[in-house]
Amino acid sequence: MDRATTRRSWRTGATAGVAVSTLLFLFAGCSSNPATSQQPGPTDPLTRSATAATAMPATTVPPATVAPTTTRTVQPIAGAGGLGDVAFPDLGNGGYDVASYTITIDARPDDPSIRATTRIDAIATNDLGSFHLDLHGFAVRSVNVDGSPAAFTREGDELIVTPSTAVLDDADFSVDVSYDGVPDPLHDPDIGRVGWIDIGPTSYVVGEPHGAHAWFPGNDHPSDKAIFEFRVSVPTGVVAVANGTLSEQRAAGATTMWIWDQSEPMATYLATVAIGDFTIQTGVGPHGLPLRNVFATRLAAAAADATARTAEMIEVLESWFGPYPFSTYGALVVDDGFGFALETQTLSLFPRSIAVRTTASQRIQVHELAHQWFGDSLSLSRWQDIWLNEGFATYTESLWLERTQPGYDIDREMQSFANKKYGPITHPTSDTLFGDAEYERGAIVLHALRRTVGDEIFFAILRDYATTFRHASVDTAAFVSLVSRHVGRPMNDFFEQWLNAPTTPALPSR
Ligand SMILES: [Zn+2]
Repeated sequence: MDRATTRRSWRTGATAGVAVSTLLFLFAGCSSNPATSQQPGPTDPLTRSATAATAMPATTVPPATVAPTTTRTVQPIAGAGGLGDVAFPDLGNGGYDVASYTITIDARPDDPSIRATTRIDAIATNDLGSFHLDLHGFAVRSVNVDGSPAAFTREGDELIVTPSTAVLDDADFSVDVSYDGVPDPLHDPDIGRVGWIDIGPTSYVVGEPHGAHAWFPGNDHPSDKAIFEFRVSVPTGVVAVANGTLSEQRAAGATTMWIWDQSEPMATYLATVAIGDFTIQTGVGPHGLPLRNVFATRLAAAAADATARTAEMIEVLESWFGPYPFSTYGALVVDDGFGFALETQTLSLFPRSIAVRTTASQRIQVHELAHQWFGDSLSLSRWQDIWLNEGFATYTESLWLERTQPGYDIDREMQSFANKKYGPITHPTSDTLFGDAEYERGAIVLHALRRTVGDEIFFAILRDYATTFRHASVDTAAFVSLVSRHVGRPMNDFFEQWLNAPTTPALPSR
């Protein structure tokens, strides 16, 4: 997200105990879905038998014995309703890991309601008597698990599903949720509405940080990435776009279904759909990378002019961070006046104000493009490490200007950030997640690192970081560890000072 937005004040109910235990757990290097409650679920304990399989070469004659049979007790639990993220304790759910979402939506510009089915293919990480999905609003019509009707209840923004038989640990299972109604965006005092935003002839999505579950049910936390397919039906003549690549347009009578595939893993908050009067402009980027921009038709000429340097930007960022991590890129410019931009994966979302040829517009475009590496390909294990997204994207703005704008002085800009005397940045609350400190002190940290280790090591670090954690999850500890390896000594104290000293130390000179 670009930093036109500043403070947020969404309150959570995190307790100190939850905060400490989650911090330790995540810094221990765990990946997705760490939290699962241990209470027995409503389903009776089951037992199941499994035959131990022994792999052997095909040429070996099997011995004439029966393979041993093992029996274990299945004690289904209730999957947890949150992952204990310090900033958003209720986001995400325990007990499973989503592999893919197939989101089927019927939407019309003249109708504020949508009719939708979301299919979730997941793998259980426990024996599950019940499990949660995050979902805000809508009337849920049915929930099927592996094709069979399942019981469900709603508790706030939790959809609690009890399948007719327990889902066994490590099993693949599917969930189909059918729902409809007028989307009810969640409110954020600084970002504004997040979720499915309907402005009349156009609808679009704002997902960060907690808006995804206001338009589709799922595991709404960036630590559980999945691939997505979007099947969006609109009246023929209306354009429907989403992340990834258009695989098919299927006309049926007066309706056309647009099918978009996001085949690389994606965090839920980066999922996007837009419908309305759009013009799709295609092009080619570096090494044949397909580009597709989606412009509100009224703005198409100005937006095309403003975004004319996208291919060049990708090429320059690739020279620093390594190959662009996805199979396509482009800008979605909506004819609306919101005060932010968002790095929706492969299709960054911009308001109409981007459609001007100015340095400010360029900075925002570079910022969202940088997030495709830092934020999208490398996504957060926990929201509190947001500086790994925003500090990197903000510093990339400055790198771009240093490269392309004669007279731009990056040291002077970083000093201007330092003069603001930001406090520590690795423990933001949901109130301060998008505060300027995460952006500007985050950028200062990277600049201090660059001036300390020199350009050669610094850019090797950025490239290695983007490559090592491509399409994976990151936290501050992982970055510090990688930097320490490059520098050849522990850099924990360096980062502790630059990230968390009461104010930033004096910037090293060039
Ligand atoms: Zn950003």
